[in-house]
Amino acid sequence: MSANTKIVIIGCGISGISAAQRLVNAGFHHIRILEATERSGGRIKTGRFGNSIVEIGANWIHGPCEENPVFCLARRYGLLDPEALTPENQAMDVGGHPPWVPNVFSSSGQKLNAEDLYPALKMFSELLYESSEFQSQGGEPWASVGDFIRAEVPQRAAEKWKDTDAKARSLQLCVISSMLKVECCVNGTHSMDEVGLGAYGLYKTLPGLDCTFPGGYEGLIKNLMSELPSGIVTYNRPVRCVHWNNSEKRENPVTVECDDGERIDADHVIVTVPLGYLKKHHSTLFHPPLPLHKLHSVQRLGFGTNNKIYVEFDSPWWDADCEVIYFVWEDEEDMVDQVPDIQRSWIKKLFGFTVLKPTERYGHVLCGWIAGHESEYMETLSEQEVSHAITQLIRRFTGNPIVTPRRVLRSQWFHDPWTRGSYSYPGKGCSVQDLENMMEPLPVKASQSQPLQVLFAGEATHPHYYSTVHGAVLSGWREADRLISHYSSVHPSEPPKSKL
Ligand SMILES: Cc1cc2nc3c(=O)[nH]c(=O)nc-3n(C[C@H](O)[C@H](O)[C@H](O)COP(=O)(O)OP(=O)(O)OC[C@H]3O[C@@H](n4cnc5c(N)ncnc54)[C@H](O)[C@@H]3O)c2cc1C
Repeated sequence: MSANTKIVIIGCGISGISAAQRLVNAGFHHIRILEATERSGGRIKTGRFGNSIVEIGANWIHGPCEENPVFCLARRYGLLDPEALTPENQAMDVGGHPPWVPNVFSSSGQKLNAEDLYPALKMFSELLYESSEFQSQGGEPWASVGDFIRAEVPQRAAEKWKDTDAKARSLQLCVISSMLKVECCVNGTHSMDEVGLGAYGLYKTLPGLDCTFPGGYEGLIKNLMSELPSGIVTYNRPVRCVHWNNSEKRENPVTVECDDGERIDADHVIVTVPLGYLKKHHSTLFHPPLPLHKLHSVQRLGFGTNNKIYVEFDSPWWDADCEVIYFVWEDEEDMVDQVPDIQRSWIKKLFGFTVLKPTERYGHVLCGWIAGHESEYMETLSEQEVSHAITQLIRRFTGNPIVTPRRVLRSQWFHDPWTRGSYSYPGKGCSVQDLENMMEPLPVKASQSQPLQVLFAGEATHPHYYSTVHGAVLSGWREADRLISHYSSVHPSEPPKSKL
């Protein structure tokens, strides 16, 4: 029934792979994936760091439970630790913020008692929860999550911390600044001032305590790829332009033009390029251009940078049970998550580190997290410069003048020309309509042209799980299903005829 339908998928990240797998399983034979780079996986990228395997891109399965397709696939392929498979792990609902054991250090070189900072942590998590509620209630008082938090904290602090002395109160406010930097990483944004308050709650979490792939996230990609027909992907083949609504008397409505000049005719094209790429190249990537409502959604949705800096030590300077390390700058009581002089002080944006566990597998390895323009600037520095800045920072916060990393490795997602950042978030003024516009196929419904010429998948097209691997998988399946149901319900006996 679908034997001759020609489908081109642009991008061999997990959304493109997922779409291809679903279509192949449904009996579509003429499928090609065009990938700009020499590898599959896109933002799922595993690397080596000394003797360890580390993730350059996606790190966790967020919410590993039965509803999470990534968890189900990883379980099927035997890629998870037994602990992650337990019903207790799947049932644990932490609302997206795992209850990690923290160590906290201050800029004057003190190890702080984490319990003393509990008032700030509690207030911050309440404010995040309230931020997510505006999505269903409407009537948000501020445009961004950052504005809301900065407006609310002083009022609540005046009431709740009235008996706290000035120094302790100032420290609580500095902790809020650190937590804002954490949220910049979680949301993949430069500042929480850029995350829309009304749309913040669109993101939905799944139950299950986040878990990792002991052998690397790319194991998932390898397993999925092994189930696709060999030769389905053409690597090092960037697409320059998707010509849709072909006016020339061509047999197929879409022509995909590659950078090397190759032109491929197709009935349908599934575009899975990252939103960062789309923001930069939309005007040349589509001919005719994207309809205005779709373009506006591309522009309104945010796509920022979150990078990792792996650091290895001979011995730990953190507690044995520590899972996350926070650095609190004691001069940041004005609740800022942006550094005024990026070139001089970019390192202040790094909120701290997560600890790679278990130690038997990784040794003493930390993963530093840094978001925003400071992170983009960090990418331009040499590895030695980054290593130097990290060393100075750790020496200052621990008060240990000799602690020295054995090696350092950082990601550079902003300067990846095929990604241009890390992942998407709802910007100011965004609504669910923007995500619906993102996934809307071309031509739009009212048109008389052949339907479903250009379809859109990828993490930034999922209405609730944007920014995640499971969102990307579900978006690929969604677009494959759109085509499958089109051929089974609309033209059961008349698929377009042509050969790839
Ligand atoms: C640092 C970091 C940490 C993350 N952590 C997590 C995490 O812990 N958990 C989680 O669930 N998610 C995480 N994510 C997000 C997750 O990696 C992505 O949501 C997901 O991998 C996106 O898949 P995708 O298929 O939509 O896009 P991609 O994986 O980006 O695939 C798109 C593909 O399109 C290709 N491409 C681009 N332009 C062209 C062109 N013109 N022609 C041809 N090909 C093109 C690219 O090379 C790429 O291979 C993280 C991401 C980053 C960067």
